[in-house]
Amino acid sequence: MTDPNCIFCKIVSKAIPAEIIYEDNDLISFLDINPVNHGHLLVIPKDHHPLLTETPDELLTKVFLRAKSLMKSLKEATDSDFVVLTVVGTDVPHFHVHLIPRFYEDGLAGFWPAKKYESEKQMKSVAEKIRKTI
Ligand code: AMP
Ligand code: ZN
Repeated sequence: MTDPNCIFCKIVSKAIPAEIIYEDNDLISFLDINPVNHGHLLVIPKDHHPLLTETPDELLTKVFLRAKSLMKSLKEATDSDFVVLTVVGTDVPHFHVHLIPRFYEDGLAGFWPAKKYESEKQMKSVAEKIRKTI
């Protein structure tokens, strides 16, 4: 499955270049072109699935198991304090996992701008809404 307009499909087919770190039959990992920290990696299935929730379980398992292994390599290679795994997907609609080397002193402590619940009641109501969908 491929999308001719998708930039990550073009990386998979080598139509555009990327700094590839790992590749097998099912997935590919390359340097993010605009890294949060140097070494920031993306891990993507070769097949085009826009969202994590649309990606077949077997493929998803392969992506996350490879991400687990790459996290260890990345920590060692960058001498970072820890590696963050995150799924964003606001830019490129081809499911991908970000692996970001982090340092205690990298100034990214507030990686996400955090909100607050106005009350315990409000927090409980949000939790209940989610539980109802499970
Ligand atoms: P998002 O879809 O929000 O998870 O973000 C997509 C990520 O892909 C961003 O961090 C971009 O810097 C990265 N990106 C976009 N185009 C390329 C490219 N051609 N090569 C490497 N990384 C890319
Ligand atoms: Zn794609």
